[in-house]
Amino acid sequence: MDKAATRALIDAAVEPFLRDVRATLDPLFHLDVKFDDDLWLFEAYGGGTSFPTNVESMDVPSLTAEIAQRIPDSPAFDDLLDPWPRCPRHQDHPLYPEVRKGIAVWACRRGENVAIPIGELADVRSNSDDSAP
Ligand SMILES: [Zn+2]
Repeated sequence: MDKAATRALIDAAVEPFLRDVRATLDPLFHLDVKFDDDLWLFEAYGGGTSFPTNVESMDVPSLTAEIAQRIPDSPAFDDLLDPWPRCPRHQDHPLYPEVRKGIAVWACRRGENVAIPIGELADVRSNSDDSAP
């Protein structure tokens, strides 16, 4: 896969995550993606880390979930003290990115049926009491 195609894949996978961050955390959030030393990197808030080394062979939902895992774990989000995204059911812990049935979702790991497609966090917030998947 050439670099332009990989970049398109990364952009497609990052987009839903960016939508969620901008809708619920920081409307000005920006992610810099660059290719350096044979590795795809991202940077935000002056901190960053790399994409998986096999990024070229990943599909969009897997990469979206991977990004949604790596970016909040990276130094970019060190200043964020609250759980994000907060579980709408329990309120006291963050949701975790997973791929379910081919869709990247924010999921609650407490066994209850909370799974919000990544990119749709804001829609769920606005219909607060409706926790159906
Ligand atoms: Zn929960």
